[in-house]
Amino acid sequence: MNFEILDKKNIWHPFTPLEGALEPLFVESAQGVYLNLKDGRRIIDVVSSWWVNIHGHSNLFIAEAIANQAKKLEHVIFAGFTHEPAIRLSENLLSILPKNQSKIFFSDNGSTAVEVALKMAIQFWHNQGIKNKKKIIAIEGAYHGDTFGSMSVGERSAFTTAFSPYLFEVEFIDFPADQNKEKIIRDFERKLQTSEIGIFIYEPLVQGAAGMRMYPPEILDQMISAAQHYGVICIADEVFTGFGRTGKLFASDHLKTQPDIIAVSKGITGGFLPLGVTSCSQKIIDAFKSAETSKTFFHGHSYTANPLACAAANASFELLMRNECRGNIQRISESHLQFVSKIKSHKAIKNSRALGTILAIELQADGGTSYFSEIRKKIYPFFLERNILLRPLGNVIYVLPPYVITNDELEIVYISIEEFLDQLAEK
Ligand SMILES: *Cc1c(COP(=O)(O)O)cnc(C)c1O
Repeated sequence: MNFEILDKKNIWHPFTPLEGALEPLFVESAQGVYLNLKDGRRIIDVVSSWWVNIHGHSNLFIAEAIANQAKKLEHVIFAGFTHEPAIRLSENLLSILPKNQSKIFFSDNGSTAVEVALKMAIQFWHNQGIKNKKKIIAIEGAYHGDTFGSMSVGERSAFTTAFSPYLFEVEFIDFPADQNKEKIIRDFERKLQTSEIGIFIYEPLVQGAAGMRMYPPEILDQMISAAQHYGVICIADEVFTGFGRTGKLFASDHLKTQPDIIAVSKGITGGFLPLGVTSCSQKIIDAFKSAETSKTFFHGHSYTANPLACAAANASFELLMRNECRGNIQRISESHLQFVSKIKSHKAIKNSRALGTILAIELQADGGTSYFSEIRKKIYPFFLERNILLRPLGNVIYVLPPYVITNDELEIVYISIEEFLDQLAEK
């Protein structure tokens, strides 16, 4: 079988034009931070395979947990039935999520976790017969997923143009930063005072897809406090930031306030299987606590709480809780910060920043953070030639490796980045 030809003939890859795209790289196996290609190359995966991998590829502990679960119970309908992996996972998650979270709802991925969060919050108002709280506030530049609800609460861009007539209206607040802090809070409060706002959704501290844009916890704390003062339901989209990415278990752990609803996915299974979780506080639950069908939450997916995904998540949780893993997160965080202070005044750099295991370098190049910026087309092959997988977001190079990456491997990546910056500055 000629796999390369069949791939091109049969398969429609995501975020990939059907003409003119680079041939996809054929991965035969993967171990730790390395992808082993069919042509013999070993590539360091410092984007954690779209931000999902946290303990390294093909981790044996997680692989065995899945295999053992598969021999016992592979899947079962989750309405009217339950099972141990899901119950264990609910306990595990509630033990580390912000203290006010009291129930766990399962779905399949980050977008569905956000859809569930939005539907819970919308029905929260509906179940109480409150009709004027129809508006949602999101943050400019937000990305919450690719389904219609999650697209609606995200930034309108070239990615959403074709669908814009079908997206519901959302009010966007400017991206918060130290410089516009007072104005943001004022604008935000003005919107809240109209009493039409029912929901506030945000990516805590880091907007991933927008180019790893970071903002200070103090501003977000003020926004959440203000929103909750007006009774607005706050949804933290921790799909990307959860499970240690920002240095703490959740980005919300950097804050004094606590969200009413949290969406998580990506790192939850260690990057093995798709799983989404939406957690909520007792306040949300109270609006649904009724035997009336009109108050029931009618949402569910065929693979809800899939036992294999739950088993993977429980194994991943166990690894995440070990001192070794927490030490790795700490080590990567410090290493990133050191690298930022080393390169921050480089001529080719507009801004460099780090939070936890996330390093982001914004280049001086034109085209901004646009996915279609020209510089993007240079960055990707430059690093691939050096056996490093970096997928820039426009003019932003970012590194967010699996937590098992060693200092030596990090150093290889840093050196290549410096080499790239020097080449850029020479031009
Ligand atoms: C990736 C991401 C999503 C969507 O998750 P999928 O599993 O890709 O559907 C939602 N929100 C944030 C913040 C993300 O980074």
